Amino acid sequence: MREGLSVAEAQKIILEAAAPLGAETVPSADGLGRALAEAVVSGRTLPPEDNSAMDGYAVRAADLATPPVALPVVYEVPAGVHAPRPLERGEAARILTGAPLPPGADAVVRQEDTEREGATVRFVISPEPGAHIRRAGEDVERGAAVLDAGTCLGPAHLGMLASLGRTSVAVHRRPRVALLSGGNELVEPDGDITGGRIVSSNSYTLAAACREIGADPSYLGIARDEPADIERRLRAGLNCDALVSSAGVSVGDHDHVRSVLESLGCRLVFWGVKMKPGYPFVFGRFEGKPGPLVFGLPGNPVSAMVTFEELVRPALLAMAGHRALHRPRIVATLGETLTKKAGRLHFVRVRLERQGHEVVARTAGNQSSGVLRSMTQAQGLLIFPAEATRIGEGEPAQVQVIDPTFLASAGSGV
Ligand code: AMP
Ligand code: MG
Repeated sequence: MREGLSVAEAQKIILEAAAPLGAETVPSADGLGRALAEAVVSGRTLPPEDNSAMDGYAVRAADLATPPVALPVVYEVPAGVHAPRPLERGEAARILTGAPLPPGADAVVRQEDTEREGATVRFVISPEPGAHIRRAGEDVERGAAVLDAGTCLGPAHLGMLASLGRTSVAVHRRPRVALLSGGNELVEPDGDITGGRIVSSNSYTLAAACREIGADPSYLGIARDEPADIERRLRAGLNCDALVSSAGVSVGDHDHVRSVLESLGCRLVFWGVKMKPGYPFVFGRFEGKPGPLVFGLPGNPVSAMVTFEELVRPALLAMAGHRALHRPRIVATLGETLTKKAGRLHFVRVRLERQGHEVVARTAGNQSSGVLRSMTQAQGLLIFPAEATRIGEGEPAQVQVIDPTFLASAGSGV
């Protein structure tokens, strides 16, 4: 087993193991946020025929070459109905938005540019041929490749699938993630925290982090620090796509997760990632037999969250078939000087604040790996590179934006 990898090496090994899961067919309307497992080719032309972009009158443009001109209104074409007959020279047809253009007509004049007088309409302008006509196929031609495999389905994609008559669609399966917490000190949120006990907050942060990206967490509960209990619970997660265990993977006397995993046939690929928070991290996989990718996270609440963020989240997104695996990154200006020892990459919890065209980053309070509060106050994780020892106030640094609402802007939005 390799030990003490850089974050980039660890990510690379994990992503090489995180193949996209198979496809499943879902109702298109339920596809929001899923990654397409097929390329969608249109079986239709959209719009299917030329139609009016306005409420007004369908005409032959040549009839209106020298306005003003008055023409008889020979029929009306509402949306969803064909004209009863072609439009002849010297005729106008009342037409409504979306209605098919009558054969013979080659322009639409907006109602605002006309004056209706009983059965006659007077035109004060001379339209260009093609005016206010939406052409057949201007949206999609039949046979066109409309959506690539791997597309993350959003509202526009679901609307397009609907327009194409696609009521179901193939998407990659959502990763099923088994979550295990471990430690004799842990209780559920309604438990008694006297006598040195603490709530298993990791069960909640990690389940939410899974749900946030569309993965499907299932909870294996809190294992006692005993190999038999750990094994019993881990076994219940072996049919999932990923198994995420927090705590019990460092070198303490009560840390049994590693040895239990090995006894279950999991090959531990590496241990230890040169990052802070979060050095004690194990990655394992089952080889030669089916089994989940195994992520052993450190127990400290922030270490668990940050290792999930950097090493588990991208893998789950890749398994779900997504192409965008990482958080958006921005360059921020340091609002204070940061120092550290060389050797590990630090992910510094920072608050972000827009100041004119820049974003200023300041530490979000106590950076101890047990202080979850600073995680609640951080919008970003600032990347303090492994070998760097100082970034001065006013200098730029890369920040992963972990709070999507920071990128969303307040105010009017225009
Ligand atoms: P360990 O990895 O077991 O040494 O745990 C490191 C620290 O993380 C200890 O202070 C544990 O109490 C804490 N811890 C472990 N598991 C959890 C959890 N599920 N939720 C919150 N804190 C935890
Ligand atoms: Mg423990």
